[in-house]
Amino acid sequence: MALIEGRNIWKIYGSGEAKTYALRGIDISINEGEFVAIMGPSGCGKSTLLNILGLLDVPTRGEVYIKGKKTTLMNENERAIFRRKISGFIFQQFHLIKTLTALENVELPMILDEKDKKYRRKRAKKLLEMVGLAERIYHYPNQLSGGQQQRVAIARALANNPKIIFADEPTGNLDSKSGKIVMDLLKELNEKGITIIMVTHDKDLAKYASRIIKMKDGKIVSYE
Ligand code: ADP
Ligand code: ADP
Repeated sequence: MALIEGRNIWKIYGSGEAKTYALRGIDISINEGEFVAIMGPSGCGKSTLLNILGLLDVPTRGEVYIKGKKTTLMNENERAIFRRKISGFIFQQFHLIKTLTALENVELPMILDEKDKKYRRKRAKKLLEMVGLAERIYHYPNQLSGGQQQRVAIARALANNPKIIFADEPTGNLDSKSGKIVMDLLKELNEKGITIIMVTHDKDLAKYASRIIKMKDGKIVSYE
């Protein structure tokens, strides 16, 4: 059974004259353990699709299934558990909290998950070590380079031991050297069994994926 499946997903923003058809009947199926790259030009609907598959947003029409379970039948609490415990999210803009250290940023999802303080500290340190930031745990985001901030964001995404990582242009704000470090990390996580769904417009990143799905104008135009 697919880990995540979208059937006939439509997303229409706005109304009347200002309507945008962001997604026009997407069918997509992702199995556990895959590293999928969703590619296509800017504005073709990649982020919208990722947000819907990650239950950050809802489709206008169509259905998302998680392990065969209809997500429209899930209540907001169940959706929140999926986002917090089963998924990790990584964005182009890092989205770290500026007033918290790297360590505190990584601890945050575990606070929301009511893990005790000793466990949180230990795990956050271990994760930051894993992404190569053992020497930076007390730094604030603005004291870190872009590549380092994204690695903190990856450590944070891993805090609750997710099965799936949703990554939206994870290297979009990074130079090529830092971008490679981030991509190698994602690859390593995938090899450990985490399913990765990544949005990118960068052809060079596609080589990291085990499958490429190409989009255009709100539709999937090819599966590889
Ligand atoms: P991509 O990630 O491929 O660049 P997006 O999913 O961000 O594409 O956007 C798809 C289309 O939907 C674009 O035309 C965009 O302008 C539009 N869109 C995205 N988000 C919104 C929104 N919140 N409100 C209105 N239109 C939106
Ligand atoms: P990365 O390999 O993570 O991308 P860079 O090559 O961008 O790092 O940065 C090289 C070094 O400069 C890093 O060790 C980092 O600590 C430091 N550095 C970069 N940007 C900043 C910044 N805005 N504030 C403090 N230190 C920075």
